[in-house]
Amino acid sequence: MDSHLTAYITLICTSGVLNLYLCLSVFLKRHHYASIASYFIVYTSTITIYCFASAFGLLATTLEQLKLWTVLIYVGMPVSAPWGLLFIMKYLGIKITKQRLIALLSIPIISFMMVVTNDFHHLHYRVFEVDSRLGAPYVHQEIGIWYVVHGIFTFSCMFIAFFLVVSHWRETAKEYRPQLLSLMWGQLVPMVTAFLYLIGLTPPGFDPVPMVLWLSSLLYLWAINSSRLFAIMPIAKDTIFNSINDGVMVLDESLRLIEYNQASKRMFPALRKSMFGMNFNDVWQVLSGCPFPFQLETDQVGKEMDIVNDESQHVYQVRTSPLQQGQNSKGSLIIFTDITELKRLQVKLERQAFYDELTQIFNRRAFFQKCEQAFVAAQKASFSFTAILMDIDFFKKVNDTYGHHIGDELLKHVVQECQTQLTDDILFARYGGEEFVLALNGQTEAEGEALANQLRQAVAAHPLMTDYGWISVTISCGVAELEKGSEDTLSQLLHKADKALYAAKGAGRNQVQVYKEVLKVTS
Ligand code: GH3
Ligand code: MG
Ligand code: MG
Repeated sequence: MDSHLTAYITLICTSGVLNLYLCLSVFLKRHHYASIASYFIVYTSTITIYCFASAFGLLATTLEQLKLWTVLIYVGMPVSAPWGLLFIMKYLGIKITKQRLIALLSIPIISFMMVVTNDFHHLHYRVFEVDSRLGAPYVHQEIGIWYVVHGIFTFSCMFIAFFLVVSHWRETAKEYRPQLLSLMWGQLVPMVTAFLYLIGLTPPGFDPVPMVLWLSSLLYLWAINSSRLFAIMPIAKDTIFNSINDGVMVLDESLRLIEYNQASKRMFPALRKSMFGMNFNDVWQVLSGCPFPFQLETDQVGKEMDIVNDESQHVYQVRTSPLQQGQNSKGSLIIFTDITELKRLQVKLERQAFYDELTQIFNRRAFFQKCEQAFVAAQKASFSFTAILMDIDFFKKVNDTYGHHIGDELLKHVVQECQTQLTDDILFARYGGEEFVLALNGQTEAEGEALANQLRQAVAAHPLMTDYGWISVTISCGVAELEKGSEDTLSQLLHKADKALYAAKGAGRNQVQVYKEVLKVTS
């Protein structure tokens, strides 16, 4: 055996061994990897068959042996290029449909059949014989029509795979570009060698591609070990990832952004693929103009944050959780759920619980909740505290005469008139029906009486304009002050104010009565 041949066989065997090693090591660790690993296992196993069959082919001494090893080469070689393309497609998140798979694998299958049956049709090799000048294992071959089809197909697969990787270069984070580089060169090396072989620039008599495949294998090995090909990026590439409504961002263990889904992009339009590799806090600064408010390393459940984007305010619930594979931390996930609608509903419900729907002032429940504390504090400190109960006079008549809707308008009108007379420190609420209550914290009954008269006069002086003309209305008020040292509750004080109101009604309406004065008259 000449020394050239020995060198060729050594190189080809190196390629074969390296591919076999890659295939087995990824196979053994496949449970730690994403589904892309299975594509790689098939890819490297086809190359392994191709390499070893080529190496044995170079040991052949007869035409029959050469033909046999060529058939075995065609078990691996035609599949390796399209399978390499499938592997790259999977890596880049391009959908692999059944149709695409069948289309890509049909030509390799035909090529294999063509080689097996070549002696009958000579469509793959027009001539296939031992090189008369160099002798076995060197081959003299003249290519047939199917060889051209097969060559174009194989070359196209490698070229498309190479092109796909190059086209993703810009949008891939610096951090993950070594992965792309190794994939790019992994395709380029056999592609260029195959090209040189086809145009006759390589040593004659045998296929040189397996001799250079060890270089691609070394690049893959480096990508798997140094930049964790198969580990993080393909996890994030899952199609499901993009179909969920929540925004999901993936960080590596150094808290650098490595992936986000389409929902995130909708939520934060400033998000760019060029931000891959940036520390997440810097990314967040760009997206929101402020530091990220929550801890990233730990599990966080349902914290809320308000974000203004596109001039609309959004409320997001944010969850962070560590991304783990087995025992190892592989980074973390940040999940954003848009709860703007939910919040709006919550605010609406809270408003409905505390505000009167018709007049938009506090309701009875809100009055007690807000007043109770101030009342007890005033009682303890012996401060003045006065309550006013107010009732619209002959309101039933308004309803009966003009209808309920005019009654409603009048209720709103009375509230608005009163509001023009009130300061912020006075609590004003609808007590029920056409009755209202006021709490004057720190004010005496004399001040209460003055305010009640002020309200009464304002309402009497401003009739409501309706489709039926002007409608005048009056109010009656009862005023009661918490006596110093009294143990009365708020309800008891209101009861006294109600008695005074009753007296005002009895005295002819459009009046203000003070409880103490009423008491003097009745006792
Ligand atoms: P008085 O001077 O003695 O207070 O006579 P009044 O007619 O105002 O008193 P009454 O308590 O008998 O009538 C109150 C009426 O208020 C009865 C009820 O139908 C009406 N009312 C209660 N709530 C509403 C409301 O939200 N809208 C309308 N339009 N009417 C209401
Ligand atoms: Mg009334
Ligand atoms: Mg009433």
